[in-house]
Amino acid sequence: MIKYNLCCKKCDLNFDSWFASSKEYDKLKKKKLINCHNCGSLNVGKNLMAPKLINKTPKEKNEKNVLNYQKIKKTISEYQKFIKSNFDYVGENFAYEARSIHYNDKKRNKGIYGKASKKDLKELKEEGIDTQMIPWVDNENH
Ligand SMILES: [Zn+2]
Repeated sequence: MIKYNLCCKKCDLNFDSWFASSKEYDKLKKKKLINCHNCGSLNVGKNLMAPKLINKTPKEKNEKNVLNYQKIKKTISEYQKFIKSNFDYVGENFAYEARSIHYNDKKRNKGIYGKASKKDLKELKEEGIDTQMIPWVDNENH
């Protein structure tokens, strides 16, 4: 059995019809035995069935994402390396240390990096203390 989507060219009705085979469809069509369910017109044709396109996009996109991720991860770890050698890690004390530099003019040879909550960062910003948030890959020891 084969299902065709048929279209009446007179009243624009689309309907599905089953045939034993494509040959049977041709035969019935020739004998003018296929007519519109709605208006009875014999001016009925097969709708072209678009083959289902195999969508390659998700896979390609995925591979691209993986590549992007690896690129980003590499950049981050280079960033981290740079920061580790040029900045002092202050861990959870980041907000405190940042303030002591800002308010006490505490002299440090290096900048600092550490952990801060979003709330800390917001407060620091309100106090005019410039901080930079960077993504951090947390699988290495500090
Ligand atoms: Zn019709």
